[in-house]
Amino acid sequence: MAKLKYERPVIKKMNAGLMNKFGTRTEFQPVRAIDGVPVLSLIEGYGSPLFVLSERQIRRNYQSAARSFKTRYPKVQFAWSYKTNYLNAVCQIFHQEGSWAEVVSGFEYRKALGNGVAGNQIIFNGPDKHRNDLLLAIENDSLIHIDNFDELYSLIELCNQINKKPRVAIRVNMDTGVYPLWDRFGFNYENGQAWNAISKIVASGKMQLVGLHCHIGTFMLTTSAYMAAATKMCELATRCKNLLHNPVEYLDLGGGFPSTNTLRGAYLPGVDTVPSIDDFAEAITTTILEYGFKQEELPLLILETGRALIDDAGYLLGSVVANKRLSDGRRATIVNFGVNTLFTAFWYEHKITPAQDFTEHTEDMVLYGPLCMNIDVVRENISLPLLNPGDHVVVHKVGAYNMTQWMQFITTRPAVVMIDEQQQVHLVRQAENLEYIEQMEQVPAHLNSHSLDAPSKERNF
Ligand SMILES: *Cc1c(COP(=O)(O)O)cnc(C)c1O
Repeated sequence: MAKLKYERPVIKKMNAGLMNKFGTRTEFQPVRAIDGVPVLSLIEGYGSPLFVLSERQIRRNYQSAARSFKTRYPKVQFAWSYKTNYLNAVCQIFHQEGSWAEVVSGFEYRKALGNGVAGNQIIFNGPDKHRNDLLLAIENDSLIHIDNFDELYSLIELCNQINKKPRVAIRVNMDTGVYPLWDRFGFNYENGQAWNAISKIVASGKMQLVGLHCHIGTFMLTTSAYMAAATKMCELATRCKNLLHNPVEYLDLGGGFPSTNTLRGAYLPGVDTVPSIDDFAEAITTTILEYGFKQEELPLLILETGRALIDDAGYLLGSVVANKRLSDGRRATIVNFGVNTLFTAFWYEHKITPAQDFTEHTEDMVLYGPLCMNIDVVRENISLPLLNPGDHVVVHKVGAYNMTQWMQFITTRPAVVMIDEQQQVHLVRQAENLEYIEQMEQVPAHLNSHSLDAPSKERNF
């Protein structure tokens, strides 16, 4: 055990900690290894900060979620939400497990193709599908989920030019009892817009309406919202069959299930409060099963779960840069990753644990990132033992939305490694460097450093 540093005694309020659900105190344990691989060796091998993904945990999450639905409903298909984490290594795990791809841009669409996903297993969502992307998707027989009337009209126009009937669905938004309403995507159910769109598609004769889609929100905390959504989707599906003689093949209920992270400002930790995937599966499948479809006419149920499948499979390792006292006496610790790297620090109170032994003395402190920017706060208030410069920390549950929303603000993005099920470590994305960043830049000739040798005093504009 490393020798612990002497700490000057201080007088402070006893911090007994919150009771957890078992009535015992939540205590810190250093997290020295991830999936059996020492944090120190990871940092020595790949640098700090460093994202670490657990292949074992990703597969476990997928299999457990798939089991939740498949044990309750006969026809279930998952589609991996690319924007949640589109590192190819991650996508390939989900595809190996049987997931289709759910993409929201031409860029993501091509990424899915590059990952070898069959065209008819790509769901193309999103409000901004370019003409070329749509042509490619039609060519590949992908599922195009229409977001708005302008998109619908341009699709009809496209279809007039080509000799193919695309397979489409519409995205539906609706009142699920959760406010504010998520009504910016898709066609509204209550005001008849969705039905209007459906009727137009079927009447056009240019497309096959094969499904209905909704994605009612993200980090949803109630299962009843999904019951409301599923009921309305079933109702629309029934109308499609009875009134338009166009039964749909599938209902896509989207994603939105929460991970066990704690939302910023939440009173209780996420682990104790969020419903489980089993709860959501129960709510959704019971609603559809009891709606009244004939057994052989039950639609395929598609799910586009993102964060709930990967958040807890990702870790961020980082290091302490410095400590300081703020003007009010509060301790501040500066770590080498900020909101540029850990975008979800804006939403979550991420659990952060030291990666080495520490003293029993803990103190409430603010955890700052290294950026020269006031909003660069990793944790507003966290009780941690005294950390010294050079100490390492582990940030938990960072697998969702960080490796796609990270930015090159002030500094470059760190490496990502994946620990496979045999505890082998694989580099899945290199740390960026200056050369990588500047690869896309071009400097006009007159601004080239060579021209500085002979600066022209006058320039004609
Ligand atoms: C982002 C997104 C998802 C995944 O959402 P989660 O909240 O991460 O489960 C699924 N479907 C669509 C259309 C999305 O935009």
